Amino acid sequence: MGQDFVVQSAYWGSTFRPSQQQQTDPAHGPFNWLDMNGAIFEMLYSGYLSGLDQYGFGSAYLGSRTAVSPDDPPAAWRSGNQADGFLDDDIVNYLIREIEAGRLNAPGDAQTGELPLYMVILPQGLYSKDHFNAAVGMHYSFDYAGAHALCAWNMQGDSLHDTSKIVSHELVEAISAQLGHGEIADDCLSTSGYVRNTMVQGYKSDQDGGSCVIPGALTRKLPPGNPLFIHEPHLVGV
Ligand SMILES: [Zn+2]
Repeated sequence: MGQDFVVQSAYWGSTFRPSQQQQTDPAHGPFNWLDMNGAIFEMLYSGYLSGLDQYGFGSAYLGSRTAVSPDDPPAAWRSGNQADGFLDDDIVNYLIREIEAGRLNAPGDAQTGELPLYMVILPQGLYSKDHFNAAVGMHYSFDYAGAHALCAWNMQGDSLHDTSKIVSHELVEAISAQLGHGEIADDCLSTSGYVRNTMVQGYKSDQDGGSCVIPGALTRKLPPGNPLFIHEPHLVGV
């Protein structure tokens, strides 16, 4: 019996609303929240996370609520000055606002034995004050009304594919770090593949000799300098 997780996603920005003018090309350009929730669904239900069983993982499912926020992040976060960027705490405060607005379930609403994990998708162009160009995603945790929760913010990349790769990295590591196995995706940045139609990143599997695995997918090594990775520095997490 491993640890179970309930995942809730939150999209901060009007750009994540579906639009009749915008047909999503998963390899290029913008996407909407339905596209990314579909990608997260594939990560959770394709067997992609099954390599975490060895670390004490039980299961994870997509919770009943998704926040598609009516407001956009503060414009100052787009200025490109590190000093004006967002704090990790700003993202927690955003989640708390969404919980109190009824768009997300509260950590205390999780079933007994389930740990809530909030995945925040940020629109393009924002800068982190805490990490600046050192990270495109970050996982950590917070407490609300006496209950503990995991959370991660994920920056929107150039497409659904490169963004889902970031989301998969943070999803895997939020879980592995909680289970005491740390940053198991950091050494696998050059290993990506598709589970069904969703691009995900590999992660380290001790039972496979420490190699990078993508359960449920054909693994392909992308060449160094692949455009998908040029803008993605080494991801760090706590
Ligand atoms: Zn990482």
